[in-house]
Amino acid sequence: MIIGIDLGTTNSVAACYINGKTEIIPNRLGRLLTPSVVSIDENGEVLVGETAREFGYLHPDASARVFKRTMGTDLTYTLAGMTFKSEELSGFVLRSLKEDAEVYLGETIEEAVISVPAYFNDNQRKATKKAGELAGLKVSRIISEPTASAVAYGVGDKNRTERCMVLDLGGGTFDVSVLEYYKSIMEIHAISGDNYLGGEDFTSALIELFLKRIDVEYDTLDLITRNALYRSAEKAKCDFDKADKVTVSLTIGDCSYAEDITVSEFEAACEPLLNRIRKPIEKSLRDARISLDDIDRVMLVGGATRLGLVRSYVKDLMGIYPDFYVDPDTSVAIGAALQAAMKERRKGIEEIVLTDVCPYTLGTEVMIDNGTFEENGHFLPIIERNTVIPVSRKERVFTAHDNQKQVTIKVLQGESKMTRNNFLLGSIVVDVPEGPKGQEAIDVTYTYDVNALLEVEVTVVSTRETKRIIIQNDSSPMSEEEAARRIRLLQYLKQNPREDEENKLVLLKGERLYKTTEGMDNDLLVNTMNEFEHMLTKGSRLEIERARKKAQDLFEEIEMRNGKKRILS
Ligand code: AMP
Repeated sequence: MIIGIDLGTTNSVAACYINGKTEIIPNRLGRLLTPSVVSIDENGEVLVGETAREFGYLHPDASARVFKRTMGTDLTYTLAGMTFKSEELSGFVLRSLKEDAEVYLGETIEEAVISVPAYFNDNQRKATKKAGELAGLKVSRIISEPTASAVAYGVGDKNRTERCMVLDLGGGTFDVSVLEYYKSIMEIHAISGDNYLGGEDFTSALIELFLKRIDVEYDTLDLITRNALYRSAEKAKCDFDKADKVTVSLTIGDCSYAEDITVSEFEAACEPLLNRIRKPIEKSLRDARISLDDIDRVMLVGGATRLGLVRSYVKDLMGIYPDFYVDPDTSVAIGAALQAAMKERRKGIEEIVLTDVCPYTLGTEVMIDNGTFEENGHFLPIIERNTVIPVSRKERVFTAHDNQKQVTIKVLQGESKMTRNNFLLGSIVVDVPEGPKGQEAIDVTYTYDVNALLEVEVTVVSTRETKRIIIQNDSSPMSEEEAARRIRLLQYLKQNPREDEENKLVLLKGERLYKTTEGMDNDLLVNTMNEFEHMLTKGSRLEIERARKKAQDLFEEIEMRNGKKRILS
């Protein structure tokens, strides 16, 4: 079976299509969301998800999160002395999801449809595919997140023409897409977005507000305190779901702070962020050449759209009540699973032909000769941004100098008229017969497929000499050889055995709570944890389960008491 995976900035989700419906695959802890967090513990074991997050609170140097933001770059993360690229860390997350799916479905999973933000460029998409390979998964399709969401929202189900806008505000990215369903074809007309706007920024706004109130500079806090503050602010932000006033609290040394923050204070602090939602919406409408009145539906996805202030901002801006009934955390995975089922041509599911758009303009460099002077470095667009893909476009260019022996075709991505401002993806050199400038013609064909892989073919018209490349970026993730070496290396790193996961989580949580509780609670915790640790080494499976349950109940009690104390203080 091919599964669908939403590899998110904050959380990742796997889903499948069985018995005629989609289902979210629970992870080893029985939860639907797996935090996209990786840690390496003292034994060199890789932890993923909630356990990794818990470990990271106490050992920030051995933990990484929000690494999706650097996908496809050379940036590395050092965890417990080992360095990893984003795609490798993502590979661990994928490996964990794959294992959970195998246990849940009782079969080996070798293939997946993985979603990426619509704005991801070639490099980032390739890195995502590589992450899949590192996890032992063939990535049969990369699907844009908003497309997946629209499928999950049932666009196309009633087989009537619909124009809609998907607004996806996740942990770290904001994507806007304008799409249309018409006669079994789902076409994206335009995409826009902000790669650096997400729920995390709203958490940061709350942190700033809190620190201003207590008059403390962020830079003066150590890593563990910063993590505790992040946790408290993140929880408080989510509490706006049910309350107009939330509390952020923090202990710095001997000082404990607890500050109430109202929704209107939070809204004022978030104004610059909310304003950043407007721009991509307007741009996508302009690019799609349609007006707001043409939009039949607005759909919200991504965890951060749970924020009431985001929903009301969108409603006021668009003049439409946005749809919000599909669980915003899981809709992308559901859409990816539906896409996987369509790919497998499973019974009971109508194939919707998805088209996507190229997120950037792709072109080459040419010289401009206006009769009096020649100017180098001009960008000739071949595939314009927002062109529906798959697409193949051909342009003819000519030799620029007399007796030129070779022509270099630069493959560039970007929106500037001048190539120096654009991003060089690669180049091809072809030989041409010598002659006066402009005599030799060269055909350049760019083919961009739904997986956003770019093939460039260059043909010298007179000699028919042809060269073809699939663009491998200079800063491209890794060579095949390097990838094979890393795969071998990563296999040595053991992932925490599934059955130990819950026990490990309880031990870590006990350790963290121990550091933040006092008095009676602390004594209770020590006793309970001692008993649990004793059972872990000596007890039967049942006894371990009982001791674990007892510890979990105690954690809940302590956390509730701590919460109450904060509210009272
Ligand atoms: P995603 O990348 O779609 O998983 O979205 C993750 C983001 O959603 C994070 O920044 C979360 O803090 C945010 N989020 C999740 N639940 C809520 C909630 N109830 N209220 C506000 N933000 C939330």
